[in-house]
Parts: sequence; structure tokens; C-alpha cells
Amino acid sequence: MSGIWVLAEHADGELARVSFELLGEAVRLSRKLDTSVAALVLADGGESLTEALARHGADTVYLIEDPRLRHYDPDIAVASIARLCRLRDPVLVMFAATSTGSDLAVRLAVSEDWPLVPCCVNFLVRDGELELVRSFAQRGVHGVFTGSRPGPTLSTIMPDTIGVERPDPARRATVERFAAAVPERSAIDVCGFIAGDPRTLELSEAEIVVAAGRGIGARDNIRLVQEFADAIGASIACTRPVVDLGWLPRSRQVGQTGTSVKPRLYVACGISGATQHTVGMRDAGTIVAINSDRGAPIFGIADLGIVGDVTRILPALTKRCRIPWNE
Ligand SMILES: Cc1cc2nc3c(=O)[nH]c(=O)nc-3n(C[C@H](O)[C@H](O)[C@H](O)COP(=O)(O)OP(=O)(O)OC[C@H]3O[C@@H](n4cnc5c(N)ncnc54)[C@H](O)[C@@H]3O)c2cc1C
Repeated sequence: MSGIWVLAEHADGELARVSFELLGEAVRLSRKLDTSVAALVLADGGESLTEALARHGADTVYLIEDPRLRHYDPDIAVASIARLCRLRDPVLVMFAATSTGSDLAVRLAVSEDWPLVPCCVNFLVRDGELELVRSFAQRGVHGVFTGSRPGPTLSTIMPDTIGVERPDPARRATVERFAAAVPERSAIDVCGFIAGDPRTLELSEAEIVVAAGRGIGARDNIRLVQEFADAIGASIACTRPVVDLGWLPRSRQVGQTGTSVKPRLYVACGISGATQHTVGMRDAGTIVAINSDRGAPIFGIADLGIVGDVTRILPALTKRCRIPWNE
């Protein structure tokens, strides 16, 4: 029983940032446990991903390749990972707490009866034993868990909570290839993948949010916010006054009496930063605030602040940020 594994998530030939975050954490932990780090790739041709995984800390890359893994197929993924785990016996397998990672971790835990600690906030080593920490009650209480053998302990970690370590261009990994384990009978037939439309996505699911506050000045200026949101593939949200003024529907309201969001990026446009609003968005990965008042409270929680007129800044940002697939 040795080795810490990270499930490397990827799409369109690119690794998700969170895979690098998890590798960094796995490397730190592997030093304390005196063990190695492996990245697990399920793909229809994942060779191009191996170098980056090595640079970010993987000693070994387990490549499970099959044309049926072009899109996430839970049955094949679970059977393949379970088989490899039984073969190599890792101590810990880390998944991102994304829809794919969480889905896979839960399915594995149930099908193999392996321990799962979701949304871990820390990994400790005490007397050579691995301890996983997760928080409850809005971070008021911490629980410490140890995995019960047999089988690896599974864990999920929220994206954008760790940060990415600087890659080492000289690092190399051993690549081991495995055929996918295809269950004889499958309840699921994956036919394709339809990307979510940020315009109709539930706010709580959105990875990027652009939010309008009263400071945008007029109903017509919602268009500027929407154009910027479209340019960066974001969902649009707002504060309560914007709902009360009838500029956007209540389903778009973030805050105490609205939706709580935790996107990777939250752009607050003309929002003062009242507590009733910030309780619903302060856990966002990166917060960018645009406000004409440099003393606005929102700057107190923003990672990046832009002081100026939002109706002038938004069109300029839209022009600079327009990304090819939205053209
Ligand atoms: C019980 C209760 C529940 C509530 N629940 C919620 C909730 O769920 N969600 C919520 O959002 N609010 C909620 N509120 C309201 C909350 O208290 C604030 O009033 C609200 O969040 C403020 O919205 P705002 O930032 O859009 O507007 P304002 O506070 O009016 O701020 C507008 C900001 O825009 C800036 N600005 C003005 N012109 C420009 C410009 N041209 N360019 C750039 N910046 C500009 C100003 O400097 C200012 O900081 C609740 C209130 C109560 C009492």
C-alpha cells in the first residue's frame, strides 16, 4: 500500500487547473508519507497530457485509454480505476470536487466500499498515519478522519482552494498504459457532451459570474454586463436593488435572500459590498470589483480592484476579453 494518486481532469486536450492544484498537494503529502505521486488519466489518447503532469509532480502517469473515454463515462471510469487500485494499492486517491470528480469518487466509494472524505480542507500525517480534515457548519467545526482498510481512501478537494505550484521543466514521469475496464453490462450509454449555456445555467453551478449592482445606473446598461459575461463565458447575477428595480429576475440575485455562489471568478460591477450581498459570494475563488468609489467595502474582499466608471470599463474589458469560441 503506497502512493498518492490524483485523477487528472481534462477537456479538449487541456488539463484542468485543479489537476495541478491537487498534484501540488499530493507532492507535499508524499514527502511526509515518504511515498510517490501518480496521476491518473482516462482519455481517448492522453499522451499529450503526460509531460505537464510530470512537470507538476507526478512520478508516474497511469494512462487508461479507450475511444469510449472521449467523454466521461462513469461505468468505464469506475471499473478502470477500481481495477488499477486493486492492482497497485494506493494509500489515497484525490479527486477534484467538480461534477465529474465528485460523481466518480462517490460511485467508487459505493461500488468498492472504500472510505470517502469529501471536500477535504487539509491532509495531516500523525504517527505515520494519514488523517483527512473536512469542515462542517460553515467552517465552524472540523472533523478529522482516518481511512479504514482495505482499499484506498478517496477524497475530493474544492478547486481553487490550494493554488498551483511552479512547474519543474526538468521533471519526467514514467508512463504506464492500461486498457479500460469495460463492464459487460452498463446502465449508461454516453452519446455525447453538451456544454452548459452560462445564460441558462443555475447560478449555484456557474464557474464564472459577472454581477450587476445598482451602480450600473440604468436598465439599458444590463446589456453591457451581459456582453462582458458572454465574452468570458460567464453567468450573469445581481444584487437585490437590481431585482427590486426590475432590471433582472429574482433568480439572478446573490446574497442572504438570494443564491449563494462559489464560482472560480466573480466580477462585481457597481456593487457596494453590503454584508447581505457578500455572504452569498465571498467564497468565490477570485473576486474582481469595479466601483467608482475607492472606499467601497467591496474592495475589502476583492482580490483585484478597478476604480472607475463601470459603464466605461465594461465595454473596454469586453473588447479585450472576447475569447474565440464566443465570437
Ligand atoms: C434583510 C435583508 C436582506 C437582503 N438580502 C440581500 C441579498 O440577498 N442580496 C443583495 O445583494 N442585497 C440584499 N440586501 C440589500 C443589501 O443590504 C444592499 O442594500 C445591497 O446589496 C446593495 O446593492 P448594490 O451594491 O447594488 O447597491 P448600492 O449599495 O447602492 O451600491 C452601488 C455601488 O455602485 C457604485 N457606483 C455607482 N455608480 C457607479 C459607476 N458609474 N461605476 C462604478 N460604480 C458605481 C457606488 O459607489 C456603490 O458602491 C438585503 C437587505 C436586507 C435588509
